[in-house]
Amino acid sequence: MRQLIAGNWKMHGRLADIAAYAAALRQAPSHVDLLVCPPFPLLDRFAGALNGSPVALGAQDCHPEAQGAHTGDVSAPMLKEAGASYVILGHSERRENHGESNAVVCAKTRAAMAAGLTPIVCVGETAAEREGGVAEQVVRTQLHHSLPADFSGVIAYEPVWAIGTGKTPTEADVAAMHGAIRAALVSQLGAARGGVKILYGGSVKPANAASLLALPEVGGALVGGASLKAEDFLAIAAGAPAV
Ligand code: PEP
Repeated sequence: MRQLIAGNWKMHGRLADIAAYAAALRQAPSHVDLLVCPPFPLLDRFAGALNGSPVALGAQDCHPEAQGAHTGDVSAPMLKEAGASYVILGHSERRENHGESNAVVCAKTRAAMAAGLTPIVCVGETAAEREGGVAEQVVRTQLHHSLPADFSGVIAYEPVWAIGTGKTPTEADVAAMHGAIRAALVSQLGAARGGVKILYGGSVKPANAASLLALPEVGGALVGGASLKAEDFLAIAAGAPAV
């Protein structure tokens, strides 16, 4: 399976950054799929800059409803219209800063799928949960309540304590968690639906990308900070195993 390397720009980037970044991404290696998820106001301009390139565009959140009185929110059909084909949902920063429960993430996932977007649903344990020996249990619970029965999309395993910290789990821990996620997905969704891609996210850099991306059941990476520099993002993509 081709790996997916997704960049989460979070609340970074300005219109003036887009042209050079999109031009640099035209040099992307051909054995991986690349995705950039900038803030909402950059989507339309990014879509134009990426036109004709194989790099996909995504957003970082959507509302569960298609329209309505929800000041400050953006719906999945609006994202689709702006040129997005993916949307990141249930990122730990949204779960923590906006109080998003698994049920809310599930409703947003349904909305994304209904609008024809591919949801990237994020799960991951806190440091206290890992230290307490309940990381797999926490992630299984998140999957159970965040995914609709007809889920089709991508999962991102992002240990909360690894995001933006420079810390990563050991390779053995990543492999064990991805194996546990695969088993949970197959048991929850069935063999066919449970075969979705599972990305690893949390302090992926050019220096550690190749070893993380080579681990069993790792189908790509969700990259925050290192996706902001095209050079680093491309170096991470180059680390994906050949298919
Ligand atoms: C993220 O926020 O999805 C992420 C993985 O961030 P970073 O790569 O900066 O740890």
